[in-house]
Amino acid sequence: TAAAAGSSSDGENARAAAELARRIAAEVARRRNFAIISHPDAGKTTMTEKLLLYGGAIHEAGEVKARANARSATSDFMALEKQRGISISSTAMTWQYQGSCLNLLDTPGHQDFSEDTYRTLAAADNAVLLVDGAKGIEPQTRKLFAVARLRGLPVFTFVNKMDRPALNGFEIIEQLEKEFGLQSYPVTWPIGSGDRFCGVYHRPSNKVLLYAKAGRGKAAASEQYELGDPALAGIIEADLLEQLMEEVELLQILGDEPSAEEIASGAVTPMYFGSAFNNFGVDLFLQSFISLAVPPRPAKAKGNPAVLAALEPSEDSSSSNGSSGSKAAGSTSIEGTVSPESTHFSGLVFKLQANMDPKHRDKVAFVRVVSGKFDKGMKVKVARTGRVVSLSRPQQMFAQSRATVQEGFAGDVIGLTNPGAFAIGDTIYAGPELSFPPIPSFSPELFAYLRCAPNQKKAFAKGVEGLLGEGAVQVLYSTDEYITDPILAAVGQLQFEVVQYRMKDEYGVDTSLEPLSFCVARWVLGGWPAVERAGRMFNTTVVKDAYGRPVLLFRNEFAFNQVIAEQGEKLGELSAFALP
Ligand code: GDP
Repeated sequence: TAAAAGSSSDGENARAAAELARRIAAEVARRRNFAIISHPDAGKTTMTEKLLLYGGAIHEAGEVKARANARSATSDFMALEKQRGISISSTAMTWQYQGSCLNLLDTPGHQDFSEDTYRTLAAADNAVLLVDGAKGIEPQTRKLFAVARLRGLPVFTFVNKMDRPALNGFEIIEQLEKEFGLQSYPVTWPIGSGDRFCGVYHRPSNKVLLYAKAGRGKAAASEQYELGDPALAGIIEADLLEQLMEEVELLQILGDEPSAEEIASGAVTPMYFGSAFNNFGVDLFLQSFISLAVPPRPAKAKGNPAVLAALEPSEDSSSSNGSSGSKAAGSTSIEGTVSPESTHFSGLVFKLQANMDPKHRDKVAFVRVVSGKFDKGMKVKVARTGRVVSLSRPQQMFAQSRATVQEGFAGDVIGLTNPGAFAIGDTIYAGPELSFPPIPSFSPELFAYLRCAPNQKKAFAKGVEGLLGEGAVQVLYSTDEYITDPILAAVGQLQFEVVQYRMKDEYGVDTSLEPLSFCVARWVLGGWPAVERAGRMFNTTVVKDAYGRPVLLFRNEFAFNQVIAEQGEKLGELSAFALP
């Protein structure tokens, strides 16, 4: 009908396009998408609940956990989760707060199951580093922080459990600086800790907020005083007040308020103190977070200049006509960035999860919207296969229940149930062709042969292919053609258990593991010619990945360093990450 339309409806189309562009820009601007990184037990579940409480997304603390429990009671796959008392799957939660739309990408907390967490960080725009005030930086935090760094995410630090004896705030600032080279800018500052925790000083308002234990599910309404208010002397013990005055002075010396760029680039972390459990300091964090966190950013991509050239959310009409107008030049593909405000929809599949609903044995592909507007029922193309898929059953994950989404914008996460159509790292788009660069897998540290009984080979092969496609685990193979057993390569031990459990549960195959004593893997970017150039190598074993590319395995760092010293030059560039 558009082709036959006269000039009056051309005007209408232009108005509609302009309206759509305005709508998208407004929605993108109010979105704040983030993931919480923390060591298990630091209080992520508790913090998540309190954050949701502020948007009225849940009505009572305890609901997030209760829902998780309800689910694991009904799902087979989750039996393992329940047995171990951990959270394996991740979901995205969306809620509104003071005009902002918050998207929290929940990451599995267990230290052994990190692969998913890394991928989730690939879909996040901001990271919240949650630290246990008594423990400071812990091992899991280190690994996750490295990924946040790799992605250049802004980091916000919340120091939790201040109602327990905690490290001094300056010690935590020092840890962040020493370990991560991260500068801190405390927005709030604690007054005492443990039994003597009396509240926080809020720098932007120069106010002291007194700590009051909250009732279940309620935000604590705390009293506020100006820092210099003489009344404080009657409320806060003299030594703590004196310490506070000294520390506030020290904070001034430490540095001024950082610029927006310093925060956005992850050079400086805004820092907050409180107690998630008692809902203290969480509101101050959230208010500051929505003003400082970055909205969805332009994403690197390759593809048709009609969508990539539009770096600016341009007023010119060429970008909205682009899909038909520049098709002729469609064969030229360029590298550039896609604006989240582009009117062309695109998304990235960052996670697949099988059998979330045991009644349907379905598979959910989690897509992060990168640009444009997602509509229920829209048709998209999968860049990898060229297949056109109708997105008729999109689901937004809220805690464990599913709600059907009608529309979505950059930064939103949508669960798509469409078995077999998607793989991790897939780009989907409507409009001019484009594709996003691959998501790196994290470097594996544990290796084991996976074996099955001879009469189950067929189901076994199917299972390995399925789990591999889903990205549940990486698989390597011996270069010896007589050894066909796959080598599982994992980030944590639990990943092995999950694979074995699912092989049995979903494919009916009993498997056994034979651990291999390697702990370092490197992909040889120069491929087999580079391996040949290097010649005979001691202290390493050459295997190949699922795509036939050479990978070197080492027993320890020492062996790795030795090979680098002797053959590094001939081997050329090595990568700790497997690029699909
Ligand atoms: P996760 O493993 O990071 O999700 O941690 P949880 O939210 O499950 O919390 C771990 C434990 O720490 C639980 O027993 C919580 O009740 C407790 N916890 C969380 N936040 C606080 C806090 O602010 N103060 C105190 N005292 N305990 C907390």
